[in-house]
Amino acid sequence: MQKSTKNSGAVIFQTSNIDSKIFVREQKGFFQRIRRSLGWILTILFMVIPFIQYQGEQAILFDLEVQKLNIFSMVLYPQDLFIFVLLLMFSAFALFFVSNKYGRIWCGYTCPQTIWTMMYLWVEHRVEGNRQAKMKLDKMPYGLKKVVTKVVKHTLWLLIAVITAAVFMSYFVPAHDLYLDLLTLKSSSLVNGWVIFFALCTYINAGWIREKMCEHMCPYSRFQSVMFNNNTKVIAYDVERGEQRGPRKINGEKPDHLGDCVDCNLCVQVCPVGIDIRNGLQYECISCGLCIDACDQTMDKFNYPRGLIKYSSINESANIEHANKKSINYAYALIMTIITVLSLLWIVNRSEFEVSVIKDRNVLYRETYDNLIENTFQMKIFNKSKHAAVFNVELEGLQHFIIADNQPIEVAPQERTIVMVTVLSPEDYQQKFTDFKFILHNSDGESELVTKTTFHGP
Ligand code: SF4
Ligand code: SF4
Repeated sequence: MQKSTKNSGAVIFQTSNIDSKIFVREQKGFFQRIRRSLGWILTILFMVIPFIQYQGEQAILFDLEVQKLNIFSMVLYPQDLFIFVLLLMFSAFALFFVSNKYGRIWCGYTCPQTIWTMMYLWVEHRVEGNRQAKMKLDKMPYGLKKVVTKVVKHTLWLLIAVITAAVFMSYFVPAHDLYLDLLTLKSSSLVNGWVIFFALCTYINAGWIREKMCEHMCPYSRFQSVMFNNNTKVIAYDVERGEQRGPRKINGEKPDHLGDCVDCNLCVQVCPVGIDIRNGLQYECISCGLCIDACDQTMDKFNYPRGLIKYSSINESANIEHANKKSINYAYALIMTIITVLSLLWIVNRSEFEVSVIKDRNVLYRETYDNLIENTFQMKIFNKSKHAAVFNVELEGLQHFIIADNQPIEVAPQERTIVMVTVLSPEDYQQKFTDFKFILHNSDGESELVTKTTFHGP
């Protein structure tokens, strides 16, 4: 019997030998209820979010055409990459934190791959029947019954896939227009192409690839052991209590040589990745807890205490104190707090306008007929907000200089404007160059933009 053990502070994963088709038995129980409830909540959120409106527009929309992301009143552009970096870092450390404490519960409860596989399995159980019926159907030669059953199942799977793809696309194309166009067959070939692509991805992933995606394509299962330690809660079978396993009568005496495992094999049959957790922790295990539900029900039938399979750390199983093992969690929590503070500071200090100034490269300076020196600058103003803005330009650091034809500059919402600004020196200007600043005041008094540059003389 193999067992996950400690070695240099790391959890060791046993290898499994899954080589045959997995027929998953439907399981009810405490952990399955949590999984299904979370699945419902997250799926409903996924479908409803694109319909939320804010000030007459879709509240959350990734507009790829103009490369912007609307999040309620905020509009983010590629220049705002920093906040995305912070967000990704926060997500990564949150995942490390949770994995360090509770193992792969992200995979077992909230990963879209798991939720959609659960959905597809639910349809499969309704159409093809329970595990035995599915195995029987699989062995059956193709006839009318098998063909009809398979066609119904795959049609329902494809329907879910198309709905999923359409919802996913509604994060990139305004939802109202998208659904209307799709339903009236007026959507562009580009949109149709993406919907078909995402639908096929969903159908293949959740219907066919399933656990293979987690085992071979998701990097998380490969590097999970780095995040685990002996205090991480993993799915653990109590070998001492369970062995020697063997069948017995439900209401009969337990033979002395047997442990509590009645070898009903239910923990294997309900496992969505097809492993036998009694062989020790294996990297395929997604911590879904279905084997716990199955085993607890068996224990209830035999009047044995629950918990032969349970969430437990190696130290807990060995009754080892782990007071000094929390430092890594504090480190993760500290990093997440720092990232949160940085994100809040970024949001608070973020300007809805940007300005940049480039000196006219063709002529460094010009002398006018009335002996003034003039410099011309190209000023680019970007209004990232959802409302128009008017700016007044002033100079700072240049005494008695003026801006020729200084008019307020109007910038439309989410537009860039380029204006040429000519600065004129006083008559007695003799310097080779003078550093100064352009100050732009938003007429609403909301914002002040400052940019440094240099005035050149003869
Ligand atoms: S071993 Fe148990 S917890 Fe792990 S994937 Fe299988 S059923 Fe889920
Ligand atoms: S479900 Fe429990 S009792 Fe049945 S085989 Fe698995 S560990 Fe043994």
